[in-house]
Formats: sequence, structure tokens, C-alpha cells
Amino acid sequence: MLSRIGVHTSVDVLFPPSVLRDALSDVEPTVEIVETAADLDECDALVTFSYDESFLDADLDWIHSIQSGVDRFPFDRLERRGIALTSSTGIHGDSVGETVVGYMLQFARRLHVHRDNERRREWQFPPWDAPFTLPGESLCVVGLGTLGQGIARRADALGVDVVGVKRTPTPVEHISRVYTPGELQEAIADVRFVAVAVPLTDRTEGSIGADEFGVMREDAYLLNVSRGGVVDDSALLDALRDDELAGAALDVFETEPLPDRSEFWERENVIVTPHAAAANREYYRRVGALVRENVRRLDANETLANHVV
Ligand code: NAD
Repeated sequence: MLSRIGVHTSVDVLFPPSVLRDALSDVEPTVEIVETAADLDECDALVTFSYDESFLDADLDWIHSIQSGVDRFPFDRLERRGIALTSSTGIHGDSVGETVVGYMLQFARRLHVHRDNERRREWQFPPWDAPFTLPGESLCVVGLGTLGQGIARRADALGVDVVGVKRTPTPVEHISRVYTPGELQEAIADVRFVAVAVPLTDRTEGSIGADEFGVMREDAYLLNVSRGGVVDDSALLDALRDDELAGAALDVFETEPLPDRSEFWERENVIVTPHAAAANREYYRRVGALVRENVRRLDANETLANHVV
């Protein structure tokens, strides 16, 4: 039975810690905002965005990450210390799905260019053959978990033919053909859009690089909402410079925040969003629901939801 849950101030990236604390006011354990290692002393559970070494020295039983991706946490050391780690996977399908079809619509309807022109007060009709519509276009979604399925469902509803890459090639709703990771290049070779939605792991790191851009169509767009590191940013810039691709929409980068000097900022055919594809005013409620459910499960001695280690 938990007695005190800490809400780490790092959650501030996505919502004020106080709104989550208040949303959890009905759970049995006390919920408090914690900032320093000393504040952790009384806590047996912690809800956090960032990872800090001090978490290992505290007497925690459970850490909940408010992100879906948990690549920043040291799984082995948490396991050795007997600290359970849970993630927030399952809550971003609609927000990230909408962001990705938003990118597709921007590119198809040239909205990103109109906005750039507006800033300069330039009334400029696009080249006649640049705008297109989405029905009949094609998308490959790499990774068919929460994000991937959220993207696929929305793109399918807009008339896009959606294929996908999945570790076990069983049929998935809204996906006309499922490929295995070994067939990645075949899967992305003949589509207008490639959306990347896999976690950052040893297997996926750098998995979208020069070879992949080489097989993609020259009129194709890369859409990356996964994690920096899955896509090779410097190979992507080379491909954009050499017109091997039509453009890219990027929410995540190898270095975040994206450095001022990055060429991604300057390119008209690149849409940069600040790791905000999942941003949503309801975010804290969804995290709150996951935390509440796991408080119940811990109490009932059941397996935790979204248990990582
Ligand atoms: P999820 O666990 O629901 O889905 C991930 C899927 O990827 C799983 O189905 C898994 O089997 C699959 N996968 C793993 N390795 C693969 C490979 N080599 N090839 C194909 N599929 C593979 O996670 P999710 O919520 O969909 O999030 C996916 C990742 O996206 C997260 O790990 C996180 O890094 C990132 N993310 C980013 C944002 C954002 O704001 N941009 C928001 C949420 C998640």
C-alpha cells in the first residue's frame, strides 16, 4: 500500500504539477509536488517527466513516466533496485494522429508555404503542379502501436492508402498491407508519406538513414514523431539538400531543443515542431487516470498497467 506519491516538477514541460496533484486528490496516498532529492525522502512513488540519478537512491517502489517513450530511464539499474517503471503509452493516439495528418494536409495544400509568405505580406499563388489532395495518396506508418494506429486511422479516413511496418505482420485495421522490419525498404519505397512511430531502442536507432532516403520517392515526405535518434538527422539533411525527398515534418531531433544553427529551421520544405506532437490540454487527466489505475492495481497486488520493468 502506497503512502505518498510525488509529482516531480519536471512534469511542468507538459502541464503544471499542481493540476495533476489536484486531479489525484481522491486517491488514498497523499500526493505532493517534489522538486529536490530531499523532497523524495517521504515518497514511495514518483510521477515524472525527467530522470535523475537521485531517484535510485530514494526509497521508491514505483516510478511513472508521463511520456510513452522511456528510453531515458536505466532499466537494469531500476530493476536491480526493485523500482517498478511504468510508461504513459496508450494516451497519445489522437493528439499525435491529428498532428501527423495535419503535417500531411500542410504539405498537400501548401499551407506551410502560404504561412511563410503571409509573414512577408507576399500574395503568391503556388506553382500549378505543387498542390495535391490526399485521397489516393499513400502512407507507410513505421511502428503500429498507439501512435501508429492513431495516425493510420485518421489517414485512412482521409482516403489515403495506408501500409505499415510491424514486428509481427498480423493484420491491422486501416492498414492495407503489413510489412516486417526486415522489409522496411520495400514498405517505404513507393509511398508519398513515411510516418515514423517506433520507440528508440538498440534496434531502431538510426534505422531511418541514407539507405532509406535513397529508396524513397523524390516526391515523398518524411514525418517523424518518434524519438530523435531513430532518424539520422544529418543523412536527412543531405537527402533534402540533394532533392532526394520533397520535404520533412519533424517533431523530434537528435539534439533538443533544436540548435539555433540547425539547417532544419531554414528550409521551406521542412516543418519543425518542438516535440509537441502530443501536447494536449487534457494530458494531465490521462496521466492521472493511468496513475489512479496503478494505485488500485498495486493495492490489489495486480500487474501494473504499462509495466516496463
Ligand atoms: P507503443 O508502445 O504503443 O507502440 C510502439 C510500437 O512500436 C509497438 O507496437 C512495437 O511493437 C513497435 N516496434 C518496436 N520496434 C519496432 C520495429 N523495429 N519496427 C516496427 N515496429 C516496432 O508506443 P507509442 O505510444 O505508439 O509511442 C511510440 C514512440 O513514439 C514512443 O516510444 C516515444 O518515443 C514516441 N512518442 C513521441 C511523442 C511525441 O510527442 N512526439 C508522443 C508519444 C510517443
